Amino acid sequence: MCAKRTVPLCSLRPAFCTAILKKIRPVRAPIAAAGRGRIVFSSNGTPIRATGTRVVAQDNPWVSWASGIAAGLFATLFPSDCRLCGAPLINISRLPVCEDCLAAIRPITGGLCSICGERLVSPLVFATESCSTETAEALCGLCSRLEPPYVKATAYGSYDSGLRELIHLLKYNQVRPAANVLGRMLAEAIEDLQPLFSGSEVLVVPVPLHVRKLRQRGFNQSDLIARAALKLKAATGGFQLSAGLLERRRETKSQIGLSRHQRRENIRGAFVVVKPDEVNGREILVVDDVFTTGTTVSECARILRRAGASKVYVATVARTLKTEAQHAMRESEIEARSAMAAAG
Ligand SMILES: [Zn+2]
Ligand SMILES: [Zn+2]
Repeated sequence: MCAKRTVPLCSLRPAFCTAILKKIRPVRAPIAAAGRGRIVFSSNGTPIRATGTRVVAQDNPWVSWASGIAAGLFATLFPSDCRLCGAPLINISRLPVCEDCLAAIRPITGGLCSICGERLVSPLVFATESCSTETAEALCGLCSRLEPPYVKATAYGSYDSGLRELIHLLKYNQVRPAANVLGRMLAEAIEDLQPLFSGSEVLVVPVPLHVRKLRQRGFNQSDLIARAALKLKAATGGFQLSAGLLERRRETKSQIGLSRHQRRENIRGAFVVVKPDEVNGREILVVDDVFTTGTTVSECARILRRAGASKVYVATVARTLKTEAQHAMRESEIEARSAMAAAG
């Protein structure tokens, strides 16, 4: 143990030194963890690609050796547990989430509505009238009766378990490096939409927060995620971030527990197109962290279309997917959407 007399730093900063010593993990922890897999370095907090593919370790044995030593030292000096599963972390990363938890986050699979991305339950599949039988696209009951104001909404993963927790880490625990991983997932979701784009530059508009909430949180998570995704798209181009295009002028209550009608009333008039000149005739991609009921992105799409946008698309990192039981409640949603459309 270092004492004041033997280590000069401790005589200056005894409290700091004591804190560091207390943080040192017992020797067994990093050794036990080191045997679980290869040590991977990440400079941006994303040791794993969104697809779950593991980052390939350096081929150079000296680099791998040095990396291993550094990672072991890091884990000893700054012990931390995965914020999702509690396992000790062995990687140098700004994101306190283990590889296994990140790899467990998978894209949505299975039959989805071709417009809103909702999970399809077989009896509710409809074909679009304009399509031939071979190319007919499946629609959910809601979209088959009344099309949303956006062309298509796509999401990377289901809003549950690990992905939900990762989003919460960013939004409620201020773990900003999570935005890099979520941005990669968003970039993958955007790829689904790209065949639909006309070829001209698409304006990317993150769903804005009210200024009061922005001050309270310190950042808009949708904005951070959109920026991270567009960095990955920078090589191919075709996107322009326009974070100030929409403004949230009115604070809205939490949508949790509200009926479809109440959600619509809650969100209506909350957003304003600040720069209508930039919207006219443009294709716009609205970006958000989560698509829950679609009320928020639909309202954004509605006012953007009203301001002259030629087409509006939606991409989110996650989406809530309904169970069969919840599908049974769709009738009330259809009524509410009809009312929303009638009101213009
Ligand atoms: Zn974990
Ligand atoms: Zn749908």
